[in-house]
Amino acid sequence: MAEDSVYLDYQASTPLDPRVREAMLVWFGEKFGNPHSNDHVYGWAAEEAVETARTQVASLIGAKPREIIFTSGATESNNIAVKGVARALRGKRNHVVTIVTEHKCVLESCRRLEREGTEVTYLPVERNGLLDLNRLDDALDEQTALVSIMAANNEIGVIQPMADIAALCEKVGARLHSDAAQAVAKIPINVNELGLDLLSISSHKIYGPMGVGALYIRQKPKVPIEPLMDGGGQERGLRSGTVPVPLAVGFGACCSIAADELPNESKRILSLRTRFLGRIKRAINDTHLHGDLEQRIPGNLNLSFANIDAQDLMMRLCRVSVSTGSACSTATVQASHVLQSLGVEQHLLHNAIRIGFGRFTTEAEVDFAVEEIARAVTSLRQSAQVYERVG
Ligand SMILES: *Cc1c(COP(=O)(O)O)cnc(C)c1O
Repeated sequence: MAEDSVYLDYQASTPLDPRVREAMLVWFGEKFGNPHSNDHVYGWAAEEAVETARTQVASLIGAKPREIIFTSGATESNNIAVKGVARALRGKRNHVVTIVTEHKCVLESCRRLEREGTEVTYLPVERNGLLDLNRLDDALDEQTALVSIMAANNEIGVIQPMADIAALCEKVGARLHSDAAQAVAKIPINVNELGLDLLSISSHKIYGPMGVGALYIRQKPKVPIEPLMDGGGQERGLRSGTVPVPLAVGFGACCSIAADELPNESKRILSLRTRFLGRIKRAINDTHLHGDLEQRIPGNLNLSFANIDAQDLMMRLCRVSVSTGSACSTATVQASHVLQSLGVEQHLLHNAIRIGFGRFTTEAEVDFAVEEIARAVTSLRQSAQVYERVG
C-alpha cells in the first residue's frame, strides 16, 4: 500500500482500476481532438471513443445509449435531474418528494426548489434506514412532478425498494429519479426492471476516474427536463460543454468491467464483510450496526462501539483508513444527518464509523483492520476506565 494504511473507505471513492487507466492513457497522449468537431479525423476518432463509452455505460444499466448524458459526476447528475424536471413541470405539477437520508446534493437541490416555490416533501425513514411505502403512497398525488429516492445510501449502504417505489409513482404519473452512485456496479441495476425515469451514476465510485458521471434519462415516455447549463448544446442540449474524452473513455471501461465482474465480485466482497463483522463482534463487545443488514450493498458497514467517540478512535487508527461519516461534510464534527434520521441513540451518534470494502480489499487486510480497530477500542475503553477510577 502506497500510504501504508489499509484502505477501507470505498464509499468515499475507489482506487482507479489499472485496466481503466490503461484504456484512458492514449487519450492523455497521442490521441486528442474535440469529440464535437465534425470536420476532421481527430474529431471523428474522439467522437467514436465517446460513443463507445456511452454504449458501455448504457449497457451496464439496461438503457439505450441515447438515454445517457455525460456529466461531471453524480452531484451534477442529481442537480440536473431534480431541478431540471421540477422546473420543466412547474405550473403543471409543483410537488417533489424525497427522503431525509439523501445525499446533500439532492437535499440542497430540493431546498433551492423550495425557495423557487416548489413544494417538497422530505419523507422520514424507518430505524433500519428503509422507506415505508405507505408513507410514500400517502405523500403522492397528481401534483407530484418528481420523486427522487437513492437506490443505495452512501453512509449505511441500505438499498431502497425501487421497483415498488416506481409502481406507486406510476399510479399518479410522477417521474422517478434515483441517485444510484452507490448502487450501480455493486448490485444489479436495470432501469427498465426497476421502472426508473432518471438515474445518476458517478465514475469514481466504481473504479473509474474522478470528474465524470452520467445521467440516464428515459426516452419513452419522454421526461420533461430543463438544462442547468447553456452553451453549445452538447449532450442533447442538456449538458453543454465539451465531453472530457479521456474521462468518458475511462468511465466506459469501468462500466464494462463491472458488467462482467459484478456477480463474482459482489459475492467476494460480501464474504469479506461477513468475515469482518463476525470477527469484530467477537473482538469488541457492545458493537452496534446502523442500517439494515440484509437490504444493503455488500461493501458497506456502519458501526458504533459503545463509549468510543469516533474522532478518538480515528486518532488511533493510523494504519486503517475508514471514515466517521459522509466525507462530504467532515469539515465540521456534526452528527450525520443519516444516522440522526434513523433515530440512533444520542450516546452512539458520535461513535459511528463507516467501513467500505471493495475490489482490491483482501482477506489479510480485513483481518489486519479488525485487529487494529479492536486494539484501539480496547485501549480507549481501558484508559476511560482508568480516568473513571482516578476521577
Ligand atoms: C459520491 C456520491 C455522490 C456525489 O458524486 P460525485 O460524482 O462525487 O459528485 C452523490 N450521491 C451519492 C449517493 C454518492 O455516494
